[in-house]
Amino acid sequence: MLTAIRGFKDILPQNSLLWAVIEDFARLTFRSFGFQEIRTPILEKTEVFTRGIGEHTDIVEKEMYTFTDRNGDSLSLRPEATAGILRAVLEHNLHKEAGQIRVFTLGPMFRHERPQKGRLRQFHQIDMEILGPASPLADFEVIWMAWSIVNGIYEKTAQGSERPDLRLEINSLGCPSCKPHHREDLLIFLENRREQLCPDCQRRSLSNPLRVFDCKLEQCKNALKGAPLLRNYICPDCVEHLKLVQDALHAVNIPFVINPLLVRGLDYYSRTTFELISNELGAQGTVAAGGRYDGLAEQMGGPHLPGVGMAIGCERLLLLAEQWAEQQPVYATDIFVAAMGDKAMQTALPWIKELRKNGVSVLMPYESKGLKALLKAADRHNATFALILGESELQGRKAVLKDLHSHTQTEIAFESLLPELLDILKIAKRTSNNAWKP
Ligand code: ATP
Ligand code: MG
Repeated sequence: MLTAIRGFKDILPQNSLLWAVIEDFARLTFRSFGFQEIRTPILEKTEVFTRGIGEHTDIVEKEMYTFTDRNGDSLSLRPEATAGILRAVLEHNLHKEAGQIRVFTLGPMFRHERPQKGRLRQFHQIDMEILGPASPLADFEVIWMAWSIVNGIYEKTAQGSERPDLRLEINSLGCPSCKPHHREDLLIFLENRREQLCPDCQRRSLSNPLRVFDCKLEQCKNALKGAPLLRNYICPDCVEHLKLVQDALHAVNIPFVINPLLVRGLDYYSRTTFELISNELGAQGTVAAGGRYDGLAEQMGGPHLPGVGMAIGCERLLLLAEQWAEQQPVYATDIFVAAMGDKAMQTALPWIKELRKNGVSVLMPYESKGLKALLKAADRHNATFALILGESELQGRKAVLKDLHSHTQTEIAFESLLPELLDILKIAKRTSNNAWKP
C-alpha cells in the first residue's frame, strides 16, 4: 500500500473543520488589524533562504528540502515564510509605494526534522509581517496579533471563562550599535567553556554565538550560567524601544514576562523578539514566535527596510484547540431533502437551487429510497432538518419539514415553501448552541 511520507500528514475531512475554524478566524482577525493577504510560491531558489535565513542556521544547514531541478537550478521548499515574502516585496517594488506593508499568509512549510508531537516535516504557519515602520508600536501590533489569534481560538473553543495557560515572553536583542559589544564578551565567555558545550554549540559558539542560548540541551544551559546578558548591553534607544512595547502591552492588558535568555540567533534580528508559549504542549511549547528584523532586506540585496513579523504554528494551535474544546467540530447539513421518486426530485430541484444560493447547505439523495432509509441518511450527514416529499405530499402540495433534533414536524405549502424555510433556518441558526456550525 502506498503511504504518505514520514512527517507529512493528511488532514482528513473529520479534522478539516477545525482547520477551517482557525484559518477563518485568523483571516478575520487580520482584516480587523488592516492586513492584506500575500501568497508566495512554496518553491524558491535556494539562495532566497540561504540569504534570507542565514547559512549558519539549523534550518539552512540541516533542515531544508533542497534539490536540483531539471534545469540544474538549486531549489528549496520554503522552511518559513518571511524570506519569500521579502523576496516578493523587493521584486515587485512594493516598498516603493506609499505607506507601510502589512501582509499575512497561511500555508505549508517544510523542514526535515525529527517528527514528534507538534513537530512535523510539512507543517503550517499563520505568518504576518509589517514592513517599513521602525516604531515599537509595530512590534506591539505584531505581538497583539499573535495574542489575539491564539486567545481568540481559546475563547471560541473552550467553555470555561479562565484564561488559557499561555506565557508571552519578550526580550530585546539590541541594535547594530550595541549588539557587537555583547557578542565580543559572549565570545570570550564561551571560549572559556568550550568543553562544556555540545558539539553543535562548540561550532555555533564561533560562527553565531547567540544561538547557543537557543540550545535545548541541559549541558549547554548549565554552561551558560553567568553568561553576559544582552539586557546589560543594550543602548538607551533600545531600552526606550522595549519600554514603549511594554507600555502598549500594559495598555491593552496583555500580560508578559521579560526573558533575558530569549534570542533569535541571526544577525539581522534586532530589538524586540518574542515567543508565545503554552505549558499544555510538552516539549514543543512555542505556539508563536517572532521579532524585529531591520537588517533582513539589506541582507537580501535590497535597501534598508525595517520589518517585524511573527509566525504561529498551526499544528500546535490545533493541538491546543483540541485540548480546549469539549467536542470536535463536525460538518453539519441544514436540510436533507428526502424526496421519494423522480417526480418529487424534479419538484425539489428548483428549491434546492434557491436554498443553496442563499447559503443553506442542502443534500439530496441520488437514488429513490423509502423514507426510513432517507432519514437514516439525513442523520448520517448530521442534518438539522429533513424535507420530506413523497406521493401524498405532491398531491396535497405540501411538504413536511421534520426537525431531526426535536423530532417535531410541520407542513409547509409549496407556494410559501422557500420564504418559510429560510425563516425557520434563520431561527434555527440563532438558537443553535452548536458553536461549530460554520
Ligand atoms: P522550535 O524551537 O520549536 O524548533 P523554531 O524556532 O524552529 O521552533 P520558528 O522558525 O520560530 O520555530 O517558527 C515559528 C513557529 O512555527 C514555531 O513557534 C512553531 O509553532 C512552528 N513550527 C516550527 N517548526 C515546526 C515543525 N517542524 N512542526 C510544527 N510546527 C513548527
Ligand atoms: Mg526549529
